[in-house]
Amino acid sequence: MSSPHILHVAGMNGCGFYKRITGCLGSLSLLFPNRLKVVEHEFDDKPAFRQWLVDDGFRNNFGTEAGKKHVSSPVVWFSKTSKDGDPDPADIEKYLGGHDAAMEWARGFMTPSDIQKSPILMQDDGHKADHGYDYDLVVIGGGSGGMAAAKEAAELGAKVALCDFVKPSPMGTKWGLGGTCVNVGCIPKKLYHIGAGVKESMEADARHFGIAVGADVKPDVMDELPGVETVSHWKTARMNIQNYIRSLNFKYRVRLREKSVQYLNKLATLKDAHTIEVADKKGNKSDITTSRVLVAVGGRPAPLDCEGGELAISSDDVFFLENGPGKTLCVGASYISLECAGFIAAMGFDTTVAVRSILLRGFDRECADKIGENMMSHGVKFITKVTPTKLEKVENDQIKVTFSDGSSDTYDTVLGAIGRHADTDKLGLENVGVKTNPKNKKIYTKFEQTETPNIYAVGDVMEGCPELTPVAIQAGVALARRLFGNSQEPMDYVNICTTVFTPLEYSCVGLSEDDANEKLGLDNVEVYHREFTPLEWSISEKRQLYGNAFTKVVVDKTENEKVLGIHYLGPNAGEVMQGYGVAMKKGVTFKELTETVGIHPTSSEEIVSLSITKSSGEDAAAGGC
Ligand code: FAD
Ligand code: NDP
Repeated sequence: MSSPHILHVAGMNGCGFYKRITGCLGSLSLLFPNRLKVVEHEFDDKPAFRQWLVDDGFRNNFGTEAGKKHVSSPVVWFSKTSKDGDPDPADIEKYLGGHDAAMEWARGFMTPSDIQKSPILMQDDGHKADHGYDYDLVVIGGGSGGMAAAKEAAELGAKVALCDFVKPSPMGTKWGLGGTCVNVGCIPKKLYHIGAGVKESMEADARHFGIAVGADVKPDVMDELPGVETVSHWKTARMNIQNYIRSLNFKYRVRLREKSVQYLNKLATLKDAHTIEVADKKGNKSDITTSRVLVAVGGRPAPLDCEGGELAISSDDVFFLENGPGKTLCVGASYISLECAGFIAAMGFDTTVAVRSILLRGFDRECADKIGENMMSHGVKFITKVTPTKLEKVENDQIKVTFSDGSSDTYDTVLGAIGRHADTDKLGLENVGVKTNPKNKKIYTKFEQTETPNIYAVGDVMEGCPELTPVAIQAGVALARRLFGNSQEPMDYVNICTTVFTPLEYSCVGLSEDDANEKLGLDNVEVYHREFTPLEWSISEKRQLYGNAFTKVVVDKTENEKVLGIHYLGPNAGEVMQGYGVAMKKGVTFKELTETVGIHPTSSEEIVSLSITKSSGEDAAAGGC
């Protein structure tokens, strides 16, 4: 069993807030003596309290800026247990604050959650209020995880520096503050994807709603129009998207400043567990010291590993291409390759995907196959069971690609999207004894803590962490709260929703049908499924060529039809799945799902109206409004 929290409350006799908080915390310690010990320090009056706190300087021990300025009654802090077993008020572990902060902490202490049931076993990292280093925390990496952790830690009173430095891609592309998501990931990708959707709507749907564009269009000839002609202009999209991203880079800088996080646009290398060498773009170096370190350096695309592989670009470059990619080969068949192929084809470029084995390994097979069919109907070509063996420059700056089956073709752009590895190569981890997985260079952690207790890792760089922005953010915030607040809550990596932004969007949470069958056995799993036409597609004949939307819910027959996985292919998949993710976290059963009244007419209501089981053999496309 872990030792109890030792909470000290100091205040003055007659102070209502002091009375209230000692009453509240005292009751909690009576109820949970193994979890909480409360020590009261009551002063006779205000002058005596202020003499002790301010004039005699007890508050200087609190370490944080807020603690050192504390004047009011009560003041609350945590201490460690002294050698003889008694609480030592001066051996301060953490400053908590006044009445409100203590009440908030008490609320958290009493809030039951599944997560709190699992004890969080972090090692003591030796952090003390009077550690004497330059910073309480230095964060290496200003991406999703690092920025979130830095801001949260600073908000909790820690003195924080954040180092972010972008090493140019092998093609020389570089970008600003904010990491992968903002600059070369989620944001530009989703914006191109949205653009592709706008174009598709104009071409496939607009005419059927009586909408056409162009000066010559007369209302009486609407029905005869073949469809709206669209032209994609990559340069315009690129300019607008890059301008938006630059505005985000600026906002992030401002937010760091507002939160009092010191931003260092410098490349960081660990010299020892408390010393970091930082180098600016001119190569000027200096050292900073810190009590704690958070590594949040993310990952970079794995280069194509065949002869001439250096001719391929990666997702680090594609959003910066001046004139668009031209005829493109996307190598790889997971998130990045398929999403890029989707929007590149929509922008009007001849697009092929080279698939080594299957589409979207790890996802529900039936859904992944439907994505492939849908992409083909959008003009994307697939070459399956091949890998490139050679890339060579030919005339007109084109690249000839030879594949493992002996075939070859010529492209303007080859985009390698064959996975990512952690960006830990020259970080100095060997100087501080932090171990990485030799396969992908990711850092091993337990509760985001490495084997060197004062060094932590979150986000894509952490072994076992799904490479998703909200995961990095939430893990960063949770860690900061545990290190500098009073949280005991670990990050929960189970049942995380995700969306693949292919032309037919795919979102899911929980197990695929295949994984459920493997885990529980075929006899113990049931699948409820339905193929349907979303209302917004129903009056366009072009949409019929693309195929239907689809959803399936996978349940455990042995446990009251507890939902194991929810899958949805259709419009706005990410928006649809987010709320179902909450239900999954709460352990929803199929009955509870279908007892929920749907919102009509939406695609999401299909999930709460499912009734056709796969085992019945009935057609998933049966039924209607
Ligand atoms: P990063 O965001 O990668 O940040 C790491 C930062 O550290 C970078 O700025 C880097 O330059 C810096 N750095 C590295 N080394 C040093 C050093 N030594 N010193 C100083 N700074 C350093 N996720 C989603 O959830 N949804 C999506 O739709 C989605 N789409 C994606 C599309 C693409 C094309 C890609 C590539 C990724 C996508 N992701 C998506 C994944 C998401 O971008 C990542 O999971 C997320 O950015 C990881 O955040 P992070 O903080 O771990 O690292
Ligand atoms: P993944 O690791 O998910 O997939 C790699 C793909 O490349 C697989 O199809 C794999 O095939 C193939 N591959 C691997 N090695 C080779 C090779 N030598 N030659 C040819 N093909 C190869 O990587 P991604 O780059 O697609 O994505 C990285 C991560 O980024 C994702 O896991 C995801 O977490 C995140 N991301 C999230 C997005 C989102 O949320 N929408 C969007 C984009 C990225 P095989 O199956 O045969 O191994």
